[in-house]
Amino acid sequence: MSGGSQRLRNWSSSLSWRPADVWEPDSVGQLGEMLTDALTAGRRVRPLGRKYSFSGAIVDDDVALDLHRLSDLSIATRGDASSALGRALTEDAWRDPSTAGYALVGAGVSLDALCAAGASRGVAPFVLGGSSGQTVIGAFSTSTHGAAFDLPPLPDFVEGLYLLTGERQHWIERGRAGPLLDPAQLPALLGAPGGLITHRDRELFDAAVVSLGGIGVIAVALIRLRDAHALMNERLWPRRAWTKLRPALLSGDAFERPPVDGADGLPGKYRYLELIFDPYDRDETTAWVCTRHLVDAPGGDPSPALRGSPNLLKFARTIGTNFARYSKALSVLVETSRLRGVDDAGEPLLYELTEVMNTGVPTSQPVWSFELVWPAASEDYLRFLDQALALVRQKWAAGRPFMGLFTLRFSKSTTAHLAMQHDANPSARYAHVEISPLQDVFNNSSRLSDNNVEFLDAMFAIPTTREARLHWGQGDWSSLRFDARRYPRLESWRKSARQLADADGALFRSPFLEEAHVRF
Ligand SMILES: Cc1cc2nc3c(=O)[nH]c(=O)nc-3n(C[C@H](O)[C@H](O)[C@H](O)COP(=O)(O)OP(=O)(O)OC[C@H]3O[C@@H](n4cnc5c(N)ncnc54)[C@H](O)[C@@H]3O)c2cc1C
Repeated sequence: MSGGSQRLRNWSSSLSWRPADVWEPDSVGQLGEMLTDALTAGRRVRPLGRKYSFSGAIVDDDVALDLHRLSDLSIATRGDASSALGRALTEDAWRDPSTAGYALVGAGVSLDALCAAGASRGVAPFVLGGSSGQTVIGAFSTSTHGAAFDLPPLPDFVEGLYLLTGERQHWIERGRAGPLLDPAQLPALLGAPGGLITHRDRELFDAAVVSLGGIGVIAVALIRLRDAHALMNERLWPRRAWTKLRPALLSGDAFERPPVDGADGLPGKYRYLELIFDPYDRDETTAWVCTRHLVDAPGGDPSPALRGSPNLLKFARTIGTNFARYSKALSVLVETSRLRGVDDAGEPLLYELTEVMNTGVPTSQPVWSFELVWPAASEDYLRFLDQALALVRQKWAAGRPFMGLFTLRFSKSTTAHLAMQHDANPSARYAHVEISPLQDVFNNSSRLSDNNVEFLDAMFAIPTTREARLHWGQGDWSSLRFDARRYPRLESWRKSARQLADADGALFRSPFLEEAHVRF
């Protein structure tokens, strides 16, 4: 345990704050004692993952709970019951034929560590986002997603949660069938000190799995894994005009086959689609179309990780002091980070184990990121893009260019109550538009340029943003009002939160959660 005050920063250095204390529990037992003490003393506790969030979801001025020491990770694969986890998994755990294994991860375990441990056992997560630097639990706590347009986000592959809400401790499973873990073996497996309350309840699970640390601390989670696989980028597709891409998105054809010429006959199943826009292309807005196909995992180690920050620096250097080079700089960024699927040494990138942007941005290069989320069945997100991209071109023509990135990805829905992709319909698809404004590189300033602030204000005034939800980890609540009242199951979340919480839940309140109406 370490105490005392220290200044904390998020991954991108866009946020910094000084909590009254930073606590670092060594074990689940010590975590339980800390929470009991905090409850008695009337303090507030904010659980932290790797602080990859760009939003105030990680910020509070009382206790910051650094969980990196809870780094236990165990994996069991189908047919191998030699580990304690393998022995505790019941027959029900293996009924779904797509399940190749399970991982039990502590709160300090990163996605990267999970992928590496899984690769050595022939198993892998079903889906990942664009980075593997986050903790597994921090990532699903905000419903992190990738670009697999036919798969739900991370929370849907979580099967069990060990949640500490103060003096109470819960083990919560989804309750699909019988228990997945033998209740008699649970306390020893979790390192739980005793008094564990077990639930198999869909409602409680859907409330707790995406809860932004607002109900309690998830000390351990059970994650379902599939067989090892790779995602390959076979080709660097030429940029396409937005006016050509838009109809394929609207009709849904873009999810049947890549919206590019010459994609027929590529090996593997088409699974991944990401558009990276270039609103500075000379005649009209274009986009790089990044596609990936699912193939069997090749033998041997995955290729070396791709480092994103050097790419970002290359991008900034290419612009130099001349904004006319922005389009060129963007293509440098895309080519070195996304489309070719090669690392800086020219090795093909295999698996989803790509360490994109895991190294952090140097403090002089803060990055902001906003992600707006809409149901893909409605045209709202396309209308938003039409207007936002036109706005970029207008500002450019007026000599006041917006500097940053626009990307578009998709995922399927989830039933988690507070997930941005929450939908009662399991086959609904959601569109994720990410806008990452950069600091004023020309003036080497550490803040957003007035131009970018002006642009963001205008962008958030576009009418269809009224229908959008904001990514919990990618937004800024001080300037926006996208709160939890946009979520149809907010009252269900509150009811379950009250059932699980200790006392009135004040232990896990924070200014961000209050403002976002994530309170009960
Ligand atoms: C480089 C980069 C790439 C990214 N790419 C994507 C992407 O492709 N797709 C996407 O959807 N998002 C993406 N994000 C956003 C990121 O995935 C989320 O913000 C994620 O929640 C961060 O995980 P973390 O481990 O850093 O958790 P933190 O940011 O530290 O915490 C996130 C939230 O979870 C809570 N929390 C953390 N640990 C626990 C715990 N043990 N128990 C209870 N609550 C907890 C925190 O209180 C906070 O509310 C990216 C961010 C960065 C910086």
